[in-house]
Amino acid sequence: MKRIGEHAVVLGASISGLLAARVLSEAFDRVTVVERDQLPEGQRTQRRGVPQGRHAHGLLSKGAKIFEELFPGILDDFVAGGAPVIDGPAELRMSLGGHLLCMDGEYADLSRTYQPSRPHLESRLRARIGDLAKIKLIDECQVTGLETTSDKSAVTGVCVRYVGSGSEDVIPADLVVDATGRSGRTTKWLVEMGYEPPLEERIDVDIMYTSRYLRPVPGSMGREKVVIIGHAPGSPKGAEFLEEEDGRWVLTLIGYRDHHPPTDPAGWVEFARPLVPEHVFAAIRDAEPLSEISAHRFPASVRRRYEKLTRFPRRLLVVGDAISSFNPIYAQGMTVASLQAMALRDSLSGDLDQVGQRFFRKAAKPIGVAWKMATGSDLALPQIEGPRPLPVRLINSYMDEVLAAAETDMVVTEKFLKVQYLLEPPTALCTPGIMWRVFTRNRRRRFPAHTS
Ligand SMILES: Cc1cc2nc3c(=O)[nH]c(=O)nc-3n(C[C@H](O)[C@H](O)[C@H](O)COP(=O)(O)OP(=O)(O)OC[C@H]3O[C@@H](n4cnc5c(N)ncnc54)[C@H](O)[C@@H]3O)c2cc1C
Repeated sequence: MKRIGEHAVVLGASISGLLAARVLSEAFDRVTVVERDQLPEGQRTQRRGVPQGRHAHGLLSKGAKIFEELFPGILDDFVAGGAPVIDGPAELRMSLGGHLLCMDGEYADLSRTYQPSRPHLESRLRARIGDLAKIKLIDECQVTGLETTSDKSAVTGVCVRYVGSGSEDVIPADLVVDATGRSGRTTKWLVEMGYEPPLEERIDVDIMYTSRYLRPVPGSMGREKVVIIGHAPGSPKGAEFLEEEDGRWVLTLIGYRDHHPPTDPAGWVEFARPLVPEHVFAAIRDAEPLSEISAHRFPASVRRRYEKLTRFPRRLLVVGDAISSFNPIYAQGMTVASLQAMALRDSLSGDLDQVGQRFFRKAAKPIGVAWKMATGSDLALPQIEGPRPLPVRLINSYMDEVLAAAETDMVVTEKFLKVQYLLEPPTALCTPGIMWRVFTRNRRRRFPAHTS
């Protein structure tokens, strides 16, 4: 890739910041990543700036593919560090909308999935970044503002405060990338600089995540390594029980609005009982607790439409959760961050002043797909307020048919998973072949006497 600048600065060293730094290093002489937290050495260590690290964190196949493209061999690193690999349908119990996806047989060509815990994933990513000579990571360094030209038309650096000493500094930059997450400050900085903030779309979900690490009795989960129970009609709740490293599992119990899980240990386990099958409940009940129960409230999915702004400072861009933060039950965040990294890579050519605009336009596409999938599915719940135009109602009704067919049809299950894992677009579920399978499967189920 052609060089387009001397120094890029990335704010935030979580997933989107590290991925952005990796692609920026192809087009800049130097990249500096500044992070407020002290970055831990260990692969299990949690940190303050990423409280979601204590909860079930799935890496979708599309994200895994991009990670591997940017850091060849990283998936093997995950496995070498103890992360489980999910190879076939018998290892994945997924029930969505009350429909249990087919667990018998084999996938035709769906790639395996990897299940590193969030701290493990981040520590491997940091290690790979550490191997790249062009990238410098500065931790315990809080970003406090932006430096701009006097007319505020371009960003020229970032103001930082070193957490340990309290001293302040300005780091000059040819390009600044805000990856400080959902509460990122760019919208506020824009207003202070005299710009309009981006239009914000929002679907209030008021979800409570509650999680605990457990060590199940060996063998108690049989072949299953992933259990995902999504919301269903009349049950705005969910559960995720995932094997992580070294026989440790994370159980996350989830509830929308008036259905938040309790956090006392006995009540919490009871919350799981009606959600999961008996053998899974027994494994949970008999498991050794390895941590306290952590709770995280997620109020709303939020999408900031930076691509629609007509005025925006040059040499600044925003990535990751700072642009779009989705209801976490769909496990899209890290994968959408990786899709944005690829959009950034495609934007790093030509005039540096145009990079931001090009990036926002390119990133809007994958963000839009994930946004429609997540918010559309949430709107299937009567508890969630939001517009339900005819297309949303039709799609949700068809998705219920797809999931019903997927209970017994491995071809439909596999296609559904490819869409869910962001490997294929949602339209892949609307080809004549899949629609015919969905129709005939469900007709056979509804009218067995006529079709046997
Ligand atoms: C409960 C929960 C569960 C989730 N589950 C999944 C899942 O299963 N799968 C999935 O793909 N995604 C999941 N996500 C989303 C995923 O965690 C994020 O999409 C992902 O971390 C990318 O976010 P990010 O890097 O943009 O921001 P973040 O991960 O929020 O990181 C922001 C970084 O910026 C730093 N920072 C903030 N302010 C400053 C400052 N002023 N100066 C310097 N540094 C600063 C923070 O310390 C942090 O390191 C989940 C999210 C939540 C809340």
